[in-house]
Amino acid sequence: MSRTKVVPIPVLGRHAVNAYLLLGRRPVIVDAGTPGSGRRIHDRITAHGVDPADVSLIVLTHGHIDHFGSAAELHRLTGAPVAGHIADLGPYRTGRVREPYLPTGPMGRLMDRNSKLHVQAEPVEPGILIGGETSLEDFGIAGRIMPTPGHTAGSVSVLTDDGDLVAGDLVANSFMGLIPGRPANPPFHDDPRQNLTSLRAMLALGPTALHVGHGTALEPDRVRRWAEREHDRLSRLESAGRLTGRTR
Ligand SMILES: [Zn+2]
Ligand SMILES: [Zn+2]
Repeated sequence: MSRTKVVPIPVLGRHAVNAYLLLGRRPVIVDAGTPGSGRRIHDRITAHGVDPADVSLIVLTHGHIDHFGSAAELHRLTGAPVAGHIADLGPYRTGRVREPYLPTGPMGRLMDRNSKLHVQAEPVEPGILIGGETSLEDFGIAGRIMPTPGHTAGSVSVLTDDGDLVAGDLVANSFMGLIPGRPANPPFHDDPRQNLTSLRAMLALGPTALHVGHGTALEPDRVRRWAEREHDRLSRLESAGRLTGRTR
């Protein structure tokens, strides 16, 4: 079995917003950054010795602007097909995120006022629609796409056979990467309960590291302890009738 290397591709800051390059028999890109970052991602993967024309697939973890913003541009620059989950097809096809954003805490409430979150991205039509667990073998990667709904209905993660989990916004670093290595919620979750269920399901598969959209790689044991605290926090909110989630 061929080993897959997971390389972070910084889109904003050192690790405030990341895309990822998977290096297996063929290269695969996971996530496409904010609008206007296609060229930057293209140049960075070239700097890693990858011929962009060899990229076999661009996987979108979910329909938020900082993850699919440059998908159409990156598709043009590489010629690679785009894969996205069917439940986030609305955002992909319109270039517009499902609003309102549902904040997970003060950070999200603050960020919701940032106009950059409310711009329109260039629409993208995924050539490969994901509806369930999907092997990446045909795209040259020993691994699979796993649906991990909750952050958005169509959120997915990529799990390599080596145990690396590229998790999108399933979990993040504190303050969007300002405190590296400390697990935290990203600023928004459509359904916090469902997201935690997805996160625990992934942790149960025994990943060796979690590579996230915002921040540095996270240790599974640290995420496990955080997930227990988050479970308790959500239970308290729920019994106080203060747990919100998208109902549609
Ligand atoms: Zn997101
Ligand atoms: Zn994000």
